[in-house]
Parts: sequence; structure tokens; C-alpha cells
Amino acid sequence: MLCAAAIPAHAQSGPVGQVPPAVVGPGFPIATDARVAGDSRQTRFVLDLDRTVPFRAFLLSEPYRVVVDLPQVSFHLPTGAGTSGRGLVKAFRYGMVMPGGSRIVFDLTGPARIANSTVLDAANGQPPRLVLELEEVDEATFARAIGSDSRARPADSGSATASVAVAGNPAPAVRPPPTTVAIATPPTDGPPDTRPVVVIDPGHGGIDYGTQGGEVPEKNLVLAFGQALRDRLERSGKFRVVMTRDDDTFIPLGDRVRIAQKQSAALFVSIHADALPRGEGTAQGATIYTLSDKASDVEAERLAETENRADQIGGVNLTEEPADVADILIDLARRETRTFSNRFARVLMNDMKTAVHMHKRPLKSAGFRVLKAPDVPSVLVELGYVSNKGDMGNLVSDAWRSRTADAMARAIDAFLAKRIANAGPERPDKPVAVRAKP
Ligand code: ZN
Repeated sequence: MLCAAAIPAHAQSGPVGQVPPAVVGPGFPIATDARVAGDSRQTRFVLDLDRTVPFRAFLLSEPYRVVVDLPQVSFHLPTGAGTSGRGLVKAFRYGMVMPGGSRIVFDLTGPARIANSTVLDAANGQPPRLVLELEEVDEATFARAIGSDSRARPADSGSATASVAVAGNPAPAVRPPPTTVAIATPPTDGPPDTRPVVVIDPGHGGIDYGTQGGEVPEKNLVLAFGQALRDRLERSGKFRVVMTRDDDTFIPLGDRVRIAQKQSAALFVSIHADALPRGEGTAQGATIYTLSDKASDVEAERLAETENRADQIGGVNLTEEPADVADILIDLARRETRTFSNRFARVLMNDMKTAVHMHKRPLKSAGFRVLKAPDVPSVLVELGYVSNKGDMGNLVSDAWRSRTADAMARAIDAFLAKRIANAGPERPDKPVAVRAKP
């Protein structure tokens, strides 16, 4: 639940460690207020701005959402804006999806269509406004709207969405978040870098704040930690470290997995922080999660559901994600990968418990989407609970962060050294057992 909570105003504040603040400046348009009016048949959203901006609005299904893409906007909305809605709008979130691009995502109570969407100039004492009018429709009309539009839209977006570009501005205001992953390739001169690749995946980012049960949003905590772990790993010189994000950018879950696969990563480590819903007792300590079809317990299931909601929060079209491929070879690789993931999780736990307080059940599993690369051993580490005072104190402490990153780096080092030794030097980046062994 907490991951889906709305974003507080001025949430760009409170960076941790070297987390760069969100890129906002005097040059960006400023949104000063937002209102939702109407009823369950017709609902109107108004965003007050200091100038007019181009935008693009479109529908998404499963669940019903409306997404408004804008150029980067500084949101100075009243505290609590979007936490609750009215009429067809259940709630809405706003924030950056990429440098230069902002987004508003509306959760709808049911199928609706965008009856009108426009940006008005300042008039009659009113500031420039973005106005969005939604109208209740039946399921079939909604499906048709999405279907017809996906045929009309350019191939690069390719999603099942119905979009409305602002009048007089047919071009999309901003591109949707990239579905292909751009990664800096190492320079081609000199010998190729054959070191094993470790992908560090700080969770959430941009419009998706993650858990906000503590004084600092999860996205900042985990980025600071990911950067500390990267620095620690790079110092050894043994690994090439790739970050799924190195700033406050929203990255869809599928892209995180693709980064690991594209890099033929030897290891994928996703970094998160948890929170217990209010009134559900207390919990503390770090937990290491691996992928399983059936969650190890109710809490793991809840957590996976929360973390898997990241795409929904960010306004990603969930129907686009390819279904798991049924292929006997992939299945074999997947099983091998799970064995390695579980082995690494145990190594990691043994190293981490010497340095930090672990949860009373430190190894768990559930259906985390970000752990689904069939060929890359993957774990997800919940560093602690932002809902716990002691854990929160740790999460913002430089000393705790560097001690924990040290322990994790030791585990990564030990695990990969062993795998490389078993695999032989030529291909240290693939699951050992997938290849024929003498
Ligand atoms: Zn998270």
C-alpha cells in the first residue's frame, strides 16, 4: 500500500548522501494547484500552471488509468494533492519520469474516456490551466478506444493506449519512457572488458517514490545505497558495475530486467526498503528475497505485490509486458538461475549478518517481477523498514551504509570468485550449469 501512496508536495527535498536533487530550476514550468471536480459520470481535472505547456493524454487499461505526459514541470502542489480523488478519479500521482519529462497518472474508478483535454491561456484572473475532462463509458467503449488508438499511434510507442494530443500540437509533448535501454558502451579500443558484470538496481525513482513511511522516500534511500555499493565494488577492480538508474529517473520493471540480460550480468541485485502498514506491528532488519512462484509467507506476498506495483504507479502499460515464454531451454536456464540466486542469497545473508541486523526470517521468496530474468541470478534486498525508527536511522547513516555495502561487496566477491573458478575463465558471465561440463 505504502508504495502507492501519493507523493507529498516538494518531495524533491530530503536527499540522502550523494543523491542529486531532482532536476528542477527556475526554467521549468511550475504547477501551483490541482483540483478534481464532478461526479462518477463526468469528472474534470484542472492543473494551474505559470505558463502553457504542450502535453499528451492517454488511457491505459489493467488497471484503468489516464496518463498525462508533460515536459518537465516543477510541482508545487498543496500537501496531500492526489491522495484522494473524486468522481472517476480515485487518486493521482505526479512527478518526473525522465530528465525533461513529467507525468501525471490518474487511477480511475472504472472505464472512462477523455472527453476533452486542453491547455488554456491565462484569462479572467485565472492562471494558465491544463484541463482534462473524463466521461464514464462502458467496458466495450473503453476497449474500442484503446484498440483503435493503438493502430493509429506511431510504432515506437506501440502500446495499447488511447491518446489525445493537445489541439494545435499534434506531436507528443514528450516521448514516453524509453522501452529500449541505452547503456554507455565501453570504448572499443583496447582489449574488451571481460570482467563479470554486476547490475545494481536501486528501486523506484522519478514519479515512483516507493515507500514513504519514513522521513525520506525509499527512492532516495536506495539510490544512495546503490551508489555506495557500486563505489565499493568498483574499487576492487574485479567487476564492471552497471546501475539500472544513477539518478532520480523512473525505470519500468521490465527495463531493469532487460538491462541485466543485455549486459549478460553475472548478478543482479535490486535494492529496496520496506515499511509495515500502520497498525501491523513492528518489524526490523534486512531481508533477502529470491524469486518463487509461491510466496514463502504472507508478508513476502504483500511485499512483492507492493514492489510489482511500480509500473502501475509510473503509468506503464502493463498489458505490453510479454508473458513468460514457455520454452524447455529457457525453463532449464531458469531453474539453474534460481539455484544460483538461492545460493547467492545464502552467501549474502552470511556476510550481511556479520555487519547489520537481519530480519528474524532473513531469507524469503515471492513473485517479484524484477527478479524474472531467466538467465541472470537475481536477488532483491530490503535493507530495512522505514517504519522502524532504528532501521530508518541506519538507512540515513553514512557509517551504516558503508558497513552494509562492504558486507554485500564481500559476498558478491566470494560468490562470483567461486563461480568464475568453476566456470573457467572464458565465459564468467553465464550460468555455469547451462554449459556442458567435462
Ligand atoms: Zn521498493
